[in-house]
Formats: sequence, C-alpha cells, structure tokens
Amino acid sequence: MPQPYFHYLVMREAALSEFPNIWRQNRVAATKMSQGPDSLYYYGTLPWRKEYEQAANVTHWDGSLDCFCHMLDHTKKSNPSIRKHDVSDGALRAYQALAEEAYFWYSHAIVDMIVHPTVYRISNDHWVKHPKKRVRAHKKLESIMDTFLLKEKMDVSPHQLKFGELICNSGLDPASFELLNVGMSMAYGVPDPKTGITRLESIAKDIANVNLNYFELFGKFHDSREHPFYKAYEMLAKYSFIPFHIPSKFDNFFGLRGVIPKDNLDKLEERIMTTHYWNDMFFHVLKSQELKNSFQRIPNSRDNRFFDNESQLLPRYTVLELFDLAVKATRMVIQAGEAFFASDYKSSREFFREKAKGVVYLDENYNMDTGLPSRFNADLLSLGDDLKKINRFKIDLIDENLLRVAGYRLNPRPLDMAA
Ligand SMILES: [Zn+2]
Repeated sequence: MPQPYFHYLVMREAALSEFPNIWRQNRVAATKMSQGPDSLYYYGTLPWRKEYEQAANVTHWDGSLDCFCHMLDHTKKSNPSIRKHDVSDGALRAYQALAEEAYFWYSHAIVDMIVHPTVYRISNDHWVKHPKKRVRAHKKLESIMDTFLLKEKMDVSPHQLKFGELICNSGLDPASFELLNVGMSMAYGVPDPKTGITRLESIAKDIANVNLNYFELFGKFHDSREHPFYKAYEMLAKYSFIPFHIPSKFDNFFGLRGVIPKDNLDKLEERIMTTHYWNDMFFHVLKSQELKNSFQRIPNSRDNRFFDNESQLLPRYTVLELFDLAVKATRMVIQAGEAFFASDYKSSREFFREKAKGVVYLDENYNMDTGLPSRFNADLLSLGDDLKKINRFKIDLIDENLLRVAGYRLNPRPLDMAA
C-alpha cells in the first residue's frame, strides 16, 4: 500500500485529464475510492482485528480485476440507456460519478502494481511474511515518496494538506457503499459451486494459511451501517488525523510507521539503507531538484529497466517516473472503461478481452503486492523466504508491462462524457 497521498495524486492527475468537468463535484467520493482495499487495513488496525487485515491482504493478492469489472457491470446495469438517450443532467452525473469511483478503485490497484515491485525490492520486504523491520523500511520509503510527490505536484507538505480534510472527515456515502459491496461480494464472497468455498476463504488458506469467512466478516452486515466498509472509512477519516498530533519536527508520514524525523536524516539513512540503490533512491527522493539533472543511468544498459545489481534485480525508475506510469495506466483503463460503456457489451470482462487487448492490467487479475499476475502466486510461495529468487521471478514480465504502459498511445483529447 503506497500511502494515501500517492493514490490521491495519481487519481487527481488522471481525473483532471479525463474528467475535468466532473472532478470538482465528485472528488471527495473519488478520493475515498482511490484508497481501494487499504481501507480495511485501517479498520483492522485500531483496534487490531487480524482477520480484516488478512482480508485486506487477500484483496491485494488476487481478484482485483474481477472486483473492478463487477463494479463496472453494476454501474452499466443500473443505467442501461445512459449512453444512448437523453437523460437529465442529474442522472448523468450520478452515473458518471459511479463510473469514476469504479475507475479510481482500480487505480489503487494500478498504483500498487506499478510502485510495489520497486518498494519491495528496495526495502527487502516479503509480500506475505512482512518481517517487522522490513515493513518499517517499506512504509518509510512510501511515506517519503508521498511527501516528495505532494511537494512536486501541489507544493504542500502532509502537514498542510491533511488527508482527513480531503475526504471531508466523512465516511462512505450509500451509493459508493453499494458499488463497493457489489464488487467485493461478487469477487470474493460467492461460494464456488463445487467446493462451496468463497475466494476470500481459499486465497487466505492457500497463501497465509488462515481461515476467513466472507459471511462472518462482511456478508452478514448486508447494507447495515455496521458494515466494515462503512466502519473502515469512518476509521480512515479519524486515523488520518493522528499523525498531526506529533510535533512538526517529524515529517513525511501518514501512518505512524512512516514517521520520519526531519533533523535526523543521516541516522535514518544509515538505519534503513539496505542497498546502494536505496541510497540513490533516498537521495533522489529528498533532493529531487538537484538530482533530476545529474541522475546517472547505468552505462550500456537501456534506460528505465530493472537491472542486475550484484545480488538482486533492482528497478531504475525514479519516483516521478513511477508516478507518471501510474497516471498513464489509470488513463488507459478509464479510456477502455468508457469504450465499454459506449458499447453494447454487458460484461466488461468480455469487452476488455475482445476489444482492449493492448491495455495492460485489463487482461487478468494481478497481485498488487508483487506486480505479477495472481496466477503466479503459488510459484512465488514455493520460493519461501528466498528474496533473491522472489525478486528475480518473472522480472521480465514486470519490466515488459511497465514498458508497455510507457509505449501506449492514449486518446489525446479528454473524453467529453456529456457529448
Ligand atoms: Zn493497496
């Protein structure tokens, strides 16, 4: 989970390009959706509810595209003639808002899939085991990225732009809840006809060896205000203010695990630096302006590729490059989604399979932690704790997908959805 601002900023930039006309009206709801299943981490943290933390992990490991497609199908089904007939402004806006929220839910997955391969490699974190120290490095790196991006994109610090204020200190509205509930329950809560086991249960068992029951965790709450999604977003609104009670000599944080002491960077660097490249990245992040001009590419290698650095493969993307890739991939997905709404197809999954072959991340479910298709989860698991092997596994595919995003040709004009 890159921290909230990274997701917010990617969403904001993609929205300003694709939906300039409705961004103002819908940005609060869209900002919430851009946090994706991470909201369950907040619900699972204070107080600690291990099973919801695990549920958040499961939704990161598999089913992301299915969940998104169910949201799109639901949006289209509830507004069948929206593209073909004249409708009132209000109805059109309500529909656009839902479509936009579905896109930004998936944009969360996209950011994770694009940024996590770098974060995991630099922090030496393990996608299932998460050793304590490594998680701290992981969170800190992400918090530094967030702070850097806020400065670059909006010229503010996290102290100035409080996340709770971005979402108006409020929880989910009922329309967003319905969309989310449909997507999640269809993707994770439907029992397999043969085994009677839901996807939530089987992934949790296969990967983390824990028991999760969709009905117990989510299903029985139906549309009650006690539903964990309602609770999770209330939590998110509250939780995001906690760091602001910490004196401002600390910076670069969202969650407490991401707190960075401002005056103590040297020590910190020593403590969490794990590779040469981390040094490079750390430096690059903090002193971007200086390094933007002087950033050295590895000689005799293609730019921007994952490269071999003695012990492991490390990425050569800068934070801004990762950010731009995530914005572009989100815009690709929005444009494909809009084409689906304009079509006669009922199933977005089918539409993407047939009409959006060139769009990365719309072909199958991806693991948001590893950045690889979820069908490789079992292979990765079989590598156990061996990070060297894990980090090399199918690196060419991650590499290729990022290059495909970079080379993709977007529709140059913002879509005018009202036209
Ligand atoms: Zn996430």
